[in-house]
Amino acid sequence: MKGIVFEGERQLIPGEFPMPRDPGRGEVLIKPSYVGLCYSEKHHFDSPYQTKITQNPTGMIWGHEFAGAVEAAGPGVSGLMAGDRVTIDPRFRCGTCPMCRAGLITNCEMTGWIGLSRENGGLAEYTLVPDYMCFLLPAGVSDLQAATVEPTTVGTRAVRRSGLSVGDNVVFFGAEDYNLGALQFARLSGAQQRIVVDPYATRRAAASRVGATLTIDPRHDDALTAIRDLMPRGADIVFVGMEDYVPEASMYLKHAFDAVRTQGEVVINRIYSPTPWENVMTVVPWMKEVRITHYGDFYGEEPQLGGRARGDYQLTIDMLASGGITPDAYDPQIVDFWSLDSPTDLAEIFDGLPDSSAKVLYRVHGEPSQG
Ligand SMILES: [Zn+2]
Ligand SMILES: [Zn+2]
Repeated sequence: MKGIVFEGERQLIPGEFPMPRDPGRGEVLIKPSYVGLCYSEKHHFDSPYQTKITQNPTGMIWGHEFAGAVEAAGPGVSGLMAGDRVTIDPRFRCGTCPMCRAGLITNCEMTGWIGLSRENGGLAEYTLVPDYMCFLLPAGVSDLQAATVEPTTVGTRAVRRSGLSVGDNVVFFGAEDYNLGALQFARLSGAQQRIVVDPYATRRAAASRVGATLTIDPRHDDALTAIRDLMPRGADIVFVGMEDYVPEASMYLKHAFDAVRTQGEVVINRIYSPTPWENVMTVVPWMKEVRITHYGDFYGEEPQLGGRARGDYQLTIDMLASGGITPDAYDPQIVDFWSLDSPTDLAEIFDGLPDSSAKVLYRVHGEPSQG
């Protein structure tokens, strides 16, 4: 079967691989339809620093944001059968460690991502997953939409766990996929002014479609002045999506602390840089009594909230089904998986981002009409 493997920095190689074995106990064979290109993958593709900290193994099929159909279910799997449409929560978990028992499943002591740090992922004709990774899709959610659940869920959790309240004024530095998810949930939660700062036109356009009340290009306008004009006392909450290939992002944390109000909150959704704090005057958050929180790829299924049924992943799917959030507004670039023949084809896609699109999805077995 065809698959695309990671072989080191800037080396994503399409090739032929053996079919996965038949699903064992508690396992499910998936036929991926759409697979998202995660902005974390762009970092790992570009940067030896990122590759090293997440210990990306070489020779592994990539792809951790995917939806597809169940091809076969192994012994002991209940509630999933051939033909069921599912989206995948890519985190492995043991189910028995203290973190798992507390519902903090992505902090499992045995965790790892399928298709990124452990086991072959979804950028292939077929892939094998544990049954607990599968979330059934309601009829109203397309496979293409479902392939965006994973990054969107970071935003779900960031807003759910923040102190955001109706009428708050919020600012987003960086409109990568996590912050675009958080923007949608901030809008749903009643945030009033929603300012998005990002140097890429594709991302500002996506932010406008999903609920920004103002977008600012930091290459042309002074973001802090524009924020103060609308929020004279500062923002109640600032969300930061920092990426090391975005030159302006080296100032995002500094600007976040300058833009937030006294006793406000800075939520760090993404912090990809070897020296993210280098431009921060740490006296500023200290004097302002700023609350600083981090939500990098954490999803919860806390028992007191209802466990899996009301966890961050299921809530994101439910909000897609109800139309509360819509990934269609990202206007994703769809890439035909079957047309990717060489490492150069992949490098072109990665190098084009984010000028080319706010989000890329590979179409594997998905019907074009599903998009
Ligand atoms: Zn991802
Ligand atoms: Zn565990």
